Formats: sequence, structure tokens, C-alpha cells
Amino acid sequence: MSLTKNQVASVAYTLTVDGQVVDQADKENPMAFIHGVGGMIPGFEKQLEGKSIGDSFSITVEAAEAYGERNDELTQDVSREMFEGVPDDQLVAGAQFQAQTDAGVEVITIAAVDGDNIKIDANHPLAGQTLNFDVEMLDIRDATAEELAHGHVHAAGGCGSHEEASNKESDGCCGGGSCGGEETK
Ligand SMILES: [Zn+2]
Repeated sequence: MSLTKNQVASVAYTLTVDGQVVDQADKENPMAFIHGVGGMIPGFEKQLEGKSIGDSFSITVEAAEAYGERNDELTQDVSREMFEGVPDDQLVAGAQFQAQTDAGVEVITIAAVDGDNIKIDANHPLAGQTLNFDVEMLDIRDATAEELAHGHVHAAGGCGSHEEASNKESDGCCGGGSCGGEETK
């Protein structure tokens, strides 16, 4: 079976940027996703299309097909007061914080600290980066109708991985389509 839209792929992978490991999933804890529904970065999905179980391969994804180019307008200088309660030793260049914004939760990176002036960067940490993946295709199966409706993968035998949805039906995660709040409209 080779991977096509609306199938669930399970992969082990190592993501490197400039030779540094940024993220990985091993065979014991593979990453599973529904292929072709936009859950993954575009360049990753494109290059996994048609791969078969057992395939091992390396792919390169340019920034434009990954997290986009960097946008310098997403950096700004703010006062240290914005980080009230954050210890000094955590307020250093490279530190990352989650911030609630109009666009949802975003990762803010401290770009520089100069006295009371803090330069923050709201670009995705991997924006502007070329991503290299070493991938092993471990499993491919058809997504269930329920998974397609929810837009995410369910653990074997149901939605055991979605604890918050267990109050409606004990053996199916998603009574009322409330699984994890990701109801497909
Ligand atoms: Zn679900």
C-alpha cells in the first residue's frame, strides 16, 4: 500500500536543521497523522505521497513549503514589564514563551535583552529554515470515517488518547463530536 490522501501514516523521523536535531519520533513512539488534510507542513506531505510501508528516505523541505520565510515585522521591542514575574535568568536571548494573541497561542522567542528593553520575535522558531527529515514509513492504513470527521488520528480501537471526551461515551472518545475541541465544521 502506498500513501495517499485520507490514509493514516505512522512514521519514525528525525528532523534536523543545519545538522542539529530539532525534533524526532522513534519506532516505539511514532508520529501518526492523516495524510493530505493539511495537518502537516505542505512539503512534508507532498514528499511522503506514494511512499510505502518499510520505505526509509531523506527529504529536504524549503522554508516556503515548511514554516514560511521570516517576517521582520514580527519582531518588536517591548518593556521588561511585559514579563513581570519572570525571573531574570529566564529572560535571556533564545528563551521561548507562549503568548495568547489574536491569532491564538503563539510562541514568542526572546531575540535580545538590553536592560529594560526586550526584543521579541513572533516568527515561528523554524521560519526561514530549510528542514531535513530522515523518515521511515512504519504503517499505512485507511482513516476511519470518525477520524476524517474529526481531522485527527485516534488511538487503536477508538479515541483512548483523548481523555477530555470520555464523559459522553466510555468506549468512544467522541460522543457529540467534542473530541479535543477540534470538531470539523
Ligand atoms: Zn476524535
